[in-house]
Amino acid sequence: MNVLEVSELRKHYPIRAGLLRREVGRVRAVDGVSFHIAAGETLALVGESGCGKTTVSRCILRALRATSGEIRFAPEDGRVVELVGLPKRQLRPLRRHMQMIFQDPYSSLNPRMMVGDIIAEPLKVNGVPAAERQARVLELLDLVQMPASARSRFPHAFSGGQRQRIGIARALALQPRLVVADEPVSALDVSVQAQIINLLLDLQDRLRLSMLFVAHDLGVVRHVSDRVAVMYVGRIVEVAPTATLYRTPRHPYTEALLAAVPAPDPARRGRQLAVLGEVADPANPPPGCAFHPRCPYAVERCRIERPELTEVTPGRWTSCHRARELELAGVG
Ligand code: SF4
Repeated sequence: MNVLEVSELRKHYPIRAGLLRREVGRVRAVDGVSFHIAAGETLALVGESGCGKTTVSRCILRALRATSGEIRFAPEDGRVVELVGLPKRQLRPLRRHMQMIFQDPYSSLNPRMMVGDIIAEPLKVNGVPAAERQARVLELLDLVQMPASARSRFPHAFSGGQRQRIGIARALALQPRLVVADEPVSALDVSVQAQIINLLLDLQDRLRLSMLFVAHDLGVVRHVSDRVAVMYVGRIVEVAPTATLYRTPRHPYTEALLAAVPAPDPARRGRQLAVLGEVADPANPPPGCAFHPRCPYAVERCRIERPELTEVTPGRWTSCHRARELELAGVG
């Protein structure tokens, strides 16, 4: 069963100008995004900065109101709630079932609170008695491989990786059904990134977490995700099981993202994004395929007709007119 189903999600921002603040255009930050996350599954949402992936995750958590579309969330088996348009009063009890791991472990923890209180805060807000809270904090510290003594210290006493473990413990305190991890390792050193990825893998196994893992490159999601959705200028351009996507990408943008991932055989690499030019402006996207000004495989049709996301083989979706004929370079 699916824990999350997102259909035709849109988040547009009006551009206003003049004394009367008339609407003169729209930034289509998210423009018709659909995907699902099954129970126990991790979906990675990947794309360059500004592609709309963080906007998608904020709409799911209702930190932003979607312009249109549907977000169906199953907080428990047999119950599905439509989140778009749900009144705040009804949203509040659902919040415990969806939690967030933040990007920056330095700013996301209150420096004036002891670690034990930080982790216990969601429990307190949800009415868990003090004695139970203490026991649960110890359990959670153990779960993220931190010593029990950490609970009586302040965040500044810990490294970035340790702070991210504390953030993960806080996110898991209420045993959420869905965790949204917003670039959870991008602020950390590469050696520490691997430790946090390993921790998340361990937690996925033990807790059967469903996770939306947001990342700006394909380097970090390879081992942590079951499937990958690649976003470009507000739309999903490719979705596939992780191993399939890395081995045989079907969209030229995925190929370019993969070119930045260290490959065992560098001769097989595709063209790097750096040489393909700047990302398109979501306020004024190019006609046809939004990737065409950067795409080394573009043909006349690409400049005129927007490709739809189509299932090219079972479970693999791509929006490229040439998806069936191009042989693109993957890694490993
Ligand atoms: Fe490139 Fe054309 Fe495919 Fe767009 S539709 S990715 S421009 S080949």
